[in-house]
Amino acid sequence: MAALLVVRVHLDWTAPGHYDRDRSLPCRVCDTATKMRDAQGTACHQSCAEDEIARELLGTGRARIADERVPVPAQTLEVAR
Ligand SMILES: [Zn+2]
Repeated sequence: MAALLVVRVHLDWTAPGHYDRDRSLPCRVCDTATKMRDAQGTACHQSCAEDEIARELLGTGRARIADERVPVPAQTLEVAR
């Protein structure tokens, strides 16, 4: 019997920086217009970011994600490696 691994990710994007009420831009994942922004300020649906992280956790993704709990300078160092 094959096992099924289900990963569900829920991001809390209630902070104001995740919503740009003035401008819709193409989501970096699905290319559909969105007012949502990821931690770097790039246009991205919350559901697309959640799916991206879930794929990363499963080892099948190539996510461009950042741990928002880490201060910005540390994230920059992380990317520079
Ligand atoms: Zn999207």
